Amino acid sequence: MTTKQYMGIKVEGVAKGKADWYCYTELCKGCGLCLEKCPINLKGEKCLQWSKEVGIYQTPAVQPDPELCIGCGTCALVCPDSAIRVERKP
Ligand code: SF4
Ligand code: SF4
Repeated sequence: MTTKQYMGIKVEGVAKGKADWYCYTELCKGCGLCLEKCPINLKGEKCLQWSKEVGIYQTPAVQPDPELCIGCGTCALVCPDSAIRVERKP
């Protein structure tokens, strides 16, 4: 079995180094749902934002501010295309 490696954005050491955050740009369609649901964005801060990298439809993908992101995984949970992965470190 082969495993496809997706291209994407990697933000290491979010949540004070407790997690790594990834966006697989080939899967991101730029719907913005994750931006709406990020709890830090909901508090009025700019954590998860549009990226300079583009997604599958050449619209902006997303990436978090590593200083603000708490690694909660809400963005990964709500993304309809599984374009985000938040990996908690042990
Ligand atoms: S992991 Fe949580 S805090 Fe970080 S970008 Fe996603 S929703 Fe926002
Ligand atoms: S990561 Fe998912 S929820 Fe966020 S803009 Fe891309 S497709 Fe939409």
